[in-house]
Amino acid sequence: MARGGDMSVWQVTNEDELREAIQETARVALVGSRSRMSWIAHQEGQNISTEGLTGIVDFRPDDLVVTVRSGTHVRDLEQMIADSGLCLGLSRTALGWMGSRIGTVGGLIALNLPHAAQNRTGGVKDWCLGMRVMRPDGEVVTFGSQVVKSVAGFDLHRVMAGSRGGLGVILSVTLRLYPIRLVEKDSLERLSDAEPRWVCRVPLAQVDQVVSEVVRPVARLRSSGLVWSEELPSELYGGWAIGPAGRTVPRPDPMVEKLRRSLKSTLDPQRKFAEGFVS
Ligand SMILES: Cc1cc2nc3c(=O)[nH]c(=O)nc-3n(C[C@H](O)[C@H](O)[C@H](O)COP(=O)(O)OP(=O)(O)OC[C@H]3O[C@@H](n4cnc5c(N)ncnc54)[C@H](O)[C@@H]3O)c2cc1C
Repeated sequence: MARGGDMSVWQVTNEDELREAIQETARVALVGSRSRMSWIAHQEGQNISTEGLTGIVDFRPDDLVVTVRSGTHVRDLEQMIADSGLCLGLSRTALGWMGSRIGTVGGLIALNLPHAAQNRTGGVKDWCLGMRVMRPDGEVVTFGSQVVKSVAGFDLHRVMAGSRGGLGVILSVTLRLYPIRLVEKDSLERLSDAEPRWVCRVPLAQVDQVVSEVVRPVARLRSSGLVWSEELPSELYGGWAIGPAGRTVPRPDPMVEKLRRSLKSTLDPQRKFAEGFVS
């Protein structure tokens, strides 16, 4: 276990080191490669990075399935599976999310943000078939399965998608893959080269109107009702937006919040893991 180049981040290279780091730390703020910190609320605690947990555990191209460790960079995974004509369900032509080609698989899953190929491949959460997770007490649990068609086990891996580091450490995940030809073309229209600060989902018929109303639009995807922008649009026409520091507009449904709090008390009763949500 090392405190890496950046002294404030503990880098672990295997599960034993990770367990030790968690046990030695009162409050853990999980990170991957820290590429998306501006998109989540500040997580108070000692940063422990899973970026050292890398590599493919199992790859079954005929089944369109890969099991990969969470610290693997999305870009590396895409390279490893491309020879088999496969890819993640992310946009190919958008060069990552608006040009960004960094970030770990664990971060991608833990954020579960909207993406530009969503109308063809579903959300990040939909690709997760199974997962290994380290709980706050260091125990490792497995959810779901490693095949596309399965009804075995609990669906807790789907809850981990979007958990922003607050429920446990994603160690590895089994992901459904897609043929590259299905994902290679998208109709994302770049409107500026700026880095987006907001991503909004609005009714399909309102995409152009929202774009014309925001001060600095960055991109639009008419087919999915997605608009990326530097400023929050004044009107979302019943849609929603995610922005700086994890701000969500409108605020999440109280029932959803209640469910999240209840999951937190069940899976992490001591509140060991800091959550990247606005409180
Ligand atoms: C080809 C390509 C396409 C891409 N397309 C998209 C896209 O469409 N949409 C998109 O959002 N991004 C996309 N990205 C960017 C990239 O996937 C994200 O930046 C990545 O998801 C963030 O990873 P990170 O390690 O930097 O996370 P960090 O910024 O380090 O962490 C983000 C959050 O995840 C949590 N977290 C990180 N690792 C774990 C773990 N192992 N267990 C539990 N919680 C954890 C943290 O606590 C934090 O709350 C793309 C990248 C590439 C290379």
